[in-house]
Amino acid sequence: MRKVGTPYMAQTTLFPVTVVGSWSRPAWLVQALRRRQAGEISKEEFNRIADEAVLAAVKYQEDAGVDIVSDGEVRRDNFYSFVVEKLSGMKLTKVSELLDYVKDRAGFEEVLRALDVPAFAIKSPIAVEKIGRRDGLALDELDFLKQHTTRQTKIPLPGPYLLTRSSWFEGLSDKAYPTPEELSEDIVQILREEIVALRDRGVDFIQFDEPSLSQVVYGDEAGETFMCAALSSRKDPTDELELAVRLMNATVDGIDGVKFGVHVCRGNWSRKEEVLLKGNYGPLLPYLVRMHIDQLVLEMATPRAGELDVFKEYANEKELGLGVVNPRTDEIESPAMIVQRVKEVLKFFAPEKIYLNPDCGFGTFAERCVNTPETAYRKLKAIGEAAEMLRREFA
Ligand SMILES: [Zn+2]
Repeated sequence: MRKVGTPYMAQTTLFPVTVVGSWSRPAWLVQALRRRQAGEISKEEFNRIADEAVLAAVKYQEDAGVDIVSDGEVRRDNFYSFVVEKLSGMKLTKVSELLDYVKDRAGFEEVLRALDVPAFAIKSPIAVEKIGRRDGLALDELDFLKQHTTRQTKIPLPGPYLLTRSSWFEGLSDKAYPTPEELSEDIVQILREEIVALRDRGVDFIQFDEPSLSQVVYGDEAGETFMCAALSSRKDPTDELELAVRLMNATVDGIDGVKFGVHVCRGNWSRKEEVLLKGNYGPLLPYLVRMHIDQLVLEMATPRAGELDVFKEYANEKELGLGVVNPRTDEIESPAMIVQRVKEVLKFFAPEKIYLNPDCGFGTFAERCVNTPETAYRKLKAIGEAAEMLRREFA
C-alpha cells in the first residue's frame, strides 16, 4: 500500500491556489487542432502553435497568483481522448460514430440531447487492439511546462476507471480484450509507468480525473454517459465504485515522492446548469477516502455539489482541493465570498489541508470551452486574492 502523505514538495504557504487543469482554447488553436486531426498539418507544426497557447495559459495563471500551474491541457482534444495519440492500439472515435454500435440508439441519442452533448464534437479513445505505451502520456507537456515556469506543476491524467470504462466498447474492443477487466490491467500498468516517469522529471502534483464516477452515482436509470457509452445498462453503483477504488490503488500503490489527487465533478460540458448532474458527496466519500491518494479535488462552488455536512464523518482524512469558483458563469465570485466559503469548510478540515481551485477546468472539451480566457483569469485572480486574505488571517 502507498503511504499517503509522504513528503514530496515543501508546501510553505497555506491555501495554495491551483487549477483543475484545462484552459480555454483560443479559436486559432482549435482550428489548428482540427487541421492536425485531419492530417493537414504535422504534429510538430501543431505543437509549435500549441506552445504559444500554453505560454499564454501559464502567463494568465501566474499573473492571477496560481501557485501550482498546469499547461492548460491545450494540446489535448479533451482531458481523456488525447491518449489516442500517445498510445498504440487506440482509435479516436466521435460519440456520433459510436451510435452505430450502441444497442439502444434512439435511447442514447435522447440522452445526448437531454445532456446537451454535441455528439459530433466530442470524441472518445476506443481500444481496438492491444494497447501500448509509446513516449508517455504527458511527459512532453510536463517538459515544456517546466521549461517555462518556476512554479510548482500539476499534470492531470485520466483516471484508471475512466480510461477503462470509456475505451472498452463492445463490437470494437472485444477482439483484443474480451472484457473491460482485461483492458484495465494494461491501463493500470501504463499509468504506473507514466506517473513514475512524471515524478522522476519533477512534477509536483498528479491529478486523476474520474468525472464518470458522478454518472455512476447521480445518473438516472437511462444512465448512459457519453464519456462511457459502454455503460449501456446501468451497473450497480457499488460494484462500479469498488472497481474504481481497486484500479486507483493498483495504479498508485508503492509509488511515493509525488502528490496524488482525484478529481470528481458532475459535468463541465455545458453552461446549462440544469442539464448537469447534481447530488452531494455522501454516496462517494466512503469510496474516495479508501483511495490511496492525498487530495480530493472537488467542485463545491456550484450548488449542485450539495451540502458540506457530508464531510463531517471524514474530517481531515484527505487534503481537500476546494472548488470555489464556477468555471461556467460570467460573474466573478468576490474574494470575500470565497473566504466565507473556505471558513465553512474549516469546520471539517485544518487550514493546512485546504487547497483552492475552480470547480473544474475552463475548457474540458476543445470545441466547447466553457468560458473566455479573460473571465477565467479574473476568477483565478479572485481566488488568489482570497488566498492572500486567508493567509493573513491564519498565518
Ligand atoms: Zn471536472
